Parts: sequence; C-alpha cells; structure tokens
Amino acid sequence: MTALLPVRPTPQPGEPLTAYAGRLAEANGVTRRRVLPAHRHDVGVPEDELETVAALAGLDAGTAARLTMDRYPPTVRGRGKTHRGGWLLHFSVEWVCLCCTPLTGRRELFWQSALSPVCRDCRLLLVQARSLAESVTVPSPRLVDLVGELTSLAEASVFHQSARLRLGSFRRVCAVVAPTIDDQWPDRPSGLPALDVAAARRWGVFPSPDPGTVAVILSAAAPALHSGYHRDRLLRESAQRRRRGHTLTVPPQHVPNAGRYLPKRPPSPPKTAPILAGFNRDDARRLLWLTTHLAHQVKRHGIRPDHVPALLPAPGEDGLPDPAVWRTRWHFAIALHMLLTHVHDGATSSARACHAFGTTDDDASLLLDGIRLGRGIHDLDAARLTDAVDALVDGGLVDYQRRRDTLRPVTRLPRLPLAAGRLPEIDGHPGHDLALTWIWTRLTHGPAFTSPRPFIADRHVRAFDAAIDPETRLTLAETGQQLLADADVTTIPTTHATWAPVTRRYG
Ligand SMILES: [Zn+2]
Repeated sequence: MTALLPVRPTPQPGEPLTAYAGRLAEANGVTRRRVLPAHRHDVGVPEDELETVAALAGLDAGTAARLTMDRYPPTVRGRGKTHRGGWLLHFSVEWVCLCCTPLTGRRELFWQSALSPVCRDCRLLLVQARSLAESVTVPSPRLVDLVGELTSLAEASVFHQSARLRLGSFRRVCAVVAPTIDDQWPDRPSGLPALDVAAARRWGVFPSPDPGTVAVILSAAAPALHSGYHRDRLLRESAQRRRRGHTLTVPPQHVPNAGRYLPKRPPSPPKTAPILAGFNRDDARRLLWLTTHLAHQVKRHGIRPDHVPALLPAPGEDGLPDPAVWRTRWHFAIALHMLLTHVHDGATSSARACHAFGTTDDDASLLLDGIRLGRGIHDLDAARLTDAVDALVDGGLVDYQRRRDTLRPVTRLPRLPLAAGRLPEIDGHPGHDLALTWIWTRLTHGPAFTSPRPFIADRHVRAFDAAIDPETRLTLAETGQQLLADADVTTIPTTHATWAPVTRRYG
C-alpha cells in the first residue's frame, strides 16, 4: 500500500505525467524517482506505475489517465514501442514555450505531438528544447485556431471513430505534402513561420522535429481537413511533384546550361520491354497463337461460344469449382467467350459475352483488358484457357447457352414429389427460389449472379445445398433435367441435342 504524500498539487489541464511527477516530488521534497521511474515517457505507461502516482497524489483513476497519452487511439499516439506512425514526435524531440516553460516549467501533452506546435496560452510558437532559438515567433490567429481544432479533434478521437478517421486522413495528407513542399507549393496563408525544407523532408514515421516547419505543413494541408476535393487535389499535385523530382532537399536554383548537369535520358528499352502496361511483345504474340489454336479446336471439335459455361472448368474437375476461384473462372469464361466469338467471325466485345451469360459487363481484370484491346495474354492465363477448352471437349460439349435460355424464364418450380418443408428457407429466401437457383447453378455451371435471381448470394445456394438431404437433391436434379428435356421436345429435334442423354424415364 502506497501512502499518500502530504502535499498534493492538482494536475493542470493537459499536464503530462512526467511533468506532474516532477512537481509532486519537488513539493514533497522527495526524489522524482520515488514517484516515477526516470526513463518513463508520457505514453506506454504501465498501469501499476500510474496507480502508484495516483495513490501518492490521491488522484482518481480518470484524472490519472488524463496525465498520459495512452487513452488516445493509435491514430494519435502511434503504434509499437516507439509509438511511430501517429501524431507523436520522436522521443528525442522536445518542444517548449520560450515564455512559460522557463518560468513555470510548463509542458503540455500535446506539445509532444505535431498537433500543437503552438503554446495557446502565450500565443507563441514552440521551439525545440536545447535549441539556440532566442527570438519568439507570434503565430497568426488562424494557426492558433487550427491548432485548437486539431487538439479538440484529438480529444474527440478518444470516443469517436469519425474524429479518428479525420485525424488519420489528415496525417496522411501532411505526410504526402511534407516531402514535396517548398516556398511556392502548396498555397498557404501568409504570416507563417519560415519553412525549413530539410526538416520538412524528415517527416516520415514521425512528424518533422521543427515546430515552425510543422506549423507550415499543417497550415498548407489545412484545406484537406474540411474538404475531400482539396484533399484529393493535394494528394494528386504532390504525386505529380514527386514524379518531377521536387523531393530534393534544396530546391533547384536557376543554373545556366542545367541540362548538362542533369542525369542523362535512360537508354531506350530492349524490344521485349512492355508495350502496354502489363503486356510485352511475347504476350501479344501469345494472344495471336491462342487465337489460331482456338480456330483449330473449332474446326476439329465444333466448339462454339454457346458451349462456354459461366464458370470455366479445369481438367479433372468434377462438378463446380471451389467457391474461392469463382471470380477468376468467371473472367476466364468471359475471355473464352470473346475469343471463340472472334474465331467465329463474330463481333467481339465483353459486353456481348456478359449479355450471353445474363449479366452486365462490369468486371475488369488484366486478362479481360488484354483481350478487349487485343494487346496480349500472359502465359499462365493462356495455358488455363487451352486447358479449359480441352476439359470442355473431353467432357462432351454442352450447349450451355441453350440451358441458360431454357431455364431463365422458369419462375415456378414444378410440383415435386416431396413433403412440404423439405426445401429449407435460408436467410429470408424462400426454399422454392433457392431450389430454382440451385438447379440453375448445377445445370448451367454458372453462379447465381448469372441467374434470373441475381439477388440470391451464392453462399445461400451453398447453404441450401448443404441443408437438403440426398433424396431432395436427386429430385431437384431430375426436375432440372426434365425442364431441359421438355423444352427440347417442343422446340428442336432430339438429334440436335448436345447435352448428355437423360437416362431417366419421364412417365
Ligand atoms: Zn507558453
């Protein structure tokens, strides 16, 4: 049990633990070490040490917690042992007020962060402790207001996610502005302290150590605090400046014949270098080869775009692919549909392919872009497509387009020889709808988003599949085959049917 000390000063608003511990020790004539270990900072304070201080000074837990940075979220106090990546300065940096710190020893928690380069009581810019600065800088009222806003945002961030997000996003803008800021860019109000470009460039996992430079960066980035438009503008302009080499510590002066001293233009790339982002000449040649290969397959096996299911199979795969690869297989299906349409002299577009599958064209990938623009295809993708064609041919070509066209208008499940309640309802979707989508997925080899019920998620269909018993599954499979067979009987001669023969008798 720690005894109360006889003299117990009240903590000042915003006073850090180290400063308070010093005051408490001095008031009672004990060493500070008795109150708090000498190496302790105001963040990452172990609970028992804080409890000791609270017990010595008779503070309640809430007041004691306000002495450290630990109650702020990682956005403010940073991460890891060094508390990097937040608004906190490096432990080696200490900011003080030239007016009140020498007189009263005053320090503030937020002076250990880049949120407050200003002493708001004296209305003076802070300076680095042990620096030789003797002149005081009076910040503009606008800067003082900005610091007030930032510190109250930090206070709000203890409880409110929105304040956390704003501070995090603002820090990112500052970190992006700092490496390219100079005397001209970005636009900022006048009356700011001098910018130290070298100090600005040191803004990395910790903010810049110079309070004046931090004040300039905060003021220059301030429009981003309130407007997404200005945030995007600053990020974009800074990225452009970074590309143009504005990140140099010393801004380039005018030099006569500067071209002579600049780095030479890089040698022109060899012939295999990319000709479009992501594709080189080999990829372009491979796409030509793949088209020829498909033309041979078309001639030999009569494969048509109608034979492509919405989820392209892989060799040796029995049934539907693993859900994890559905998105990729879907892209391969669109790609193969486009290529086969092209081989059949049809107009190629991914929109047309997606329309054939029953969806809209809103997928983008390098594979699809390469084929849409005729730029090329990577070797692994080409191998997967030829493998898939082999798998389709080996499994017997199925007119999936006809299956889709037949099943799409079916909105009611035929009467089933099943007791009511055998088709479970999943997540608010009635069992009948799920059964129709289950049939769709099995027979068209396509995900639910290509079905007439795209609002049913594939995971619901999988949950339905897991929930039904084998007999129900068999009945549903037969019902699907029956739907296809009925359409077949009424429209086309059976000899033209390309799907696997139906073995069950329909009586
Ligand atoms: Zn002051």
